[in-house]
Amino acid sequence: MAGLKLTKINKTYPNGFKAVKDIDLEIVDKEFMVLVGPSGCGKTTTLRMIAGLEEITKGDLEIGDKHVNDVAPKDRDIAMVFQNYALYPHMSVFDNMGFALKLRKMSKQDIKDRVQKAAEILGIESMLTRKPKELSGGQRQRVALGRAIVRQPQVFLMDEPLSNLDAKLRVQMRAELIKLHRELQTTFVYVTHDQTEAMTMGTRICVMNDGLILQVDKPSEIYNHPVNKFVASFIGAPQMNFIPAVLIEENGQTFAKCGDSKLLLKSEDRLKPYIGKSVDLGVRPENCIIGEGGIKAVVELRELLGSETFLYLKMGEINLIARVSSDVDYAIGDVVELSIKNDFYHVFDKETEMAVV
Ligand code: ATP
Repeated sequence: MAGLKLTKINKTYPNGFKAVKDIDLEIVDKEFMVLVGPSGCGKTTTLRMIAGLEEITKGDLEIGDKHVNDVAPKDRDIAMVFQNYALYPHMSVFDNMGFALKLRKMSKQDIKDRVQKAAEILGIESMLTRKPKELSGGQRQRVALGRAIVRQPQVFLMDEPLSNLDAKLRVQMRAELIKLHRELQTTFVYVTHDQTEAMTMGTRICVMNDGLILQVDKPSEIYNHPVNKFVASFIGAPQMNFIPAVLIEENGQTFAKCGDSKLLLKSEDRLKPYIGKSVDLGVRPENCIIGEGGIKAVVELRELLGSETFLYLKMGEINLIARVSSDVDYAIGDVVELSIKNDFYHVFDKETEMAVV
């Protein structure tokens, strides 16, 4: 078991493209760290540099207390699970899982013991003699995990391992991976573009964009205290609403003036420098209240999801989403008034897009 330390890591591809820019990241031993971000943000490149599959252009990588920049992948004591499983089609499940151990010249009995144990953990004991083509997608993914488990690595690296599974299986495997992490008590580094996977699985999340790390923290912190507009919009579904506003002060009270309407905000020191300035007010859909008072908006669409409804609203040119109880019926075209629950809002600097703190 081991932690990882990435110090000022850079990746410039031979064509000159800078995919990862000076990132610092410390992953604690036994942590489930999720690297999340949109396509092309550099998360796979980062994982592949940790695995040793991609050369580090500049910076230092430590696994445990060992500097591993120049250590071959097979000597890094890591195991990687890929999106496409990468199983050997002509080998049985048992042989697929035991192959790396055979290469290490481990005894037949030890290989059998380790494969058996991993198969038990993953619930695939009855499939050891089958070939990959005789398995479902979920079962194949378990074999790919089993192949990593038998090696008893210090660190598991996973690159979108669930993205080839259908939605239902993905949810199931998500829970299984969380259990697996608890059972193995090993460091996991997991790459995904799916914010739900990040939120549900990570003990910490590292949000990346454009080759940079924007925020590293526990899921709840990232959700409740995003450092900037990008993180705020990327984490959470449906995404946070952004309402352009001007902060004003009247009779000692602070308001966000949005078009002709005003929303009362808490009077806070952090907002003082922004009085008279344009900002973006961030409000999550679940913190929108539809009722008396607030910003006027028109109902454009309703999505009934059972116990709750997503209301798609239009305020001038701005699109908003409110998550409301399904008890109240709104018709398309209704003009409603929107306010904010319990001061649950964020204020972002218009220019830097950073959260105002
Ligand atoms: P995805 O979720 O789509 O896999 P990602 O965040 O994992 O995205 P990377 O695969 O790390 O992104 O790629 C980061 C950037 O580097 C992308 O813009 C990609 O086009 C570029 N890139 C990746 N591999 C190479 C390469 N071999 N040569 C040049 N550019 C590359």
